[in-house]
Amino acid sequence: MPPVTPPIHLSTTYLRNPDGTYENGYVYSRAGNPNRQALEEQLAELEGGAYALAFSSGMAAIQSLFLALKTGDHLLLPDDVYFNVRLLLDEVMADWGLTYTAVDMTDLQAIEDALQQNTRLVWLETPSNPQLKVTDIAAVCSLVDDRDIRVAVDNTWPTPIHQLPFALGADYVVHSTTKYMGGHSDVLGGALIAKQEDDWAAKLRRIQHVGGAVPSPMDCYLVSRGLQTLRLRVQAQTTSAHQLATFLEGHDEIEAVLYPGLPSHPQHDVAKKQMREGFGAMLSVLVRGDAKRAMSVAAKLQHFAVATSLGGVESLVEHRKSVEGPASATPNNLLRLSVGVEPVATLIEDWEQALATN
Ligand SMILES: *Cc1c(COP(=O)(O)O)cnc(C)c1O
Repeated sequence: MPPVTPPIHLSTTYLRNPDGTYENGYVYSRAGNPNRQALEEQLAELEGGAYALAFSSGMAAIQSLFLALKTGDHLLLPDDVYFNVRLLLDEVMADWGLTYTAVDMTDLQAIEDALQQNTRLVWLETPSNPQLKVTDIAAVCSLVDDRDIRVAVDNTWPTPIHQLPFALGADYVVHSTTKYMGGHSDVLGGALIAKQEDDWAAKLRRIQHVGGAVPSPMDCYLVSRGLQTLRLRVQAQTTSAHQLATFLEGHDEIEAVLYPGLPSHPQHDVAKKQMREGFGAMLSVLVRGDAKRAMSVAAKLQHFAVATSLGGVESLVEHRKSVEGPASATPNNLLRLSVGVEPVATLIEDWEQALATN
């Protein structure tokens, strides 16, 4: 009888048949292995894509798409894109000869104005990090529809539970599976999912197989296991995040709450239109006062670990400005919260005590 839980295939190499063929097509683990194939099938199905390629990190998945571009190509990036994406282009790939324009992706006119003759890729991240700005994916896709431009969406934050970019017109979806998909802060991974088998498919598969930034079978197994509870975890975390956001918005010591589920959010209507079953489990708050006050509130929290990353079952809080550096546009008093699966009453009480001024 086959096992209910799949085994982890650690072998890097596979026996060849006497006639020269390979059973199931597996030859060498970098090119493919059962755990990666199972994960890629799960990922493609979750996003509704034609195929998925798993990578060893979210950044490796992002880079795979940039490697498919040619010298001289131009991209549009959100002005508050995940900061390592800029580092990748500015430093790691500086000699590749790509250029980009950073744009406020909530402003369709600004996007249109930034398009160039050689623009080949529009990169979206919505809700954005850490200001939770929401981009109208369908509107951006229709804006570039009649041009030779592909649209990629980093769907790490909303996950396919809350947002399906392919249904809105996007060509590629990227994930840091390190976050909600793994879900337990114990595995690093990434994924690139394509809506269709287009003329980049062979090239992207080559980048994965030959470039070799692939996840280990163990890592694939862990992400696959995380995916089994993705819906349950994300729904619980989102419900708590929405309640916490509502509580914090009413608190005197909080200047503003940035959460797309709140009617006060500037793009709440866009979020309602393109997200489903809730608005995700990430939010940011502006604490009344300066950076020092924000950091001292974070330090007083007992049920939010002060650490970077997000999407795990444990709640995390982070002062983003001090991570991103002085050039970042993030407000000094901003704390970013990743809401976990703890009882929401515990989390709300924790904020109540941390914000108490006496
Ligand atoms: C974490 C993250 C990444 C990078 O993923 P890694 O797995 O750390 O390489 C990219 N985009 C977003 C939105 C992220 O949160």
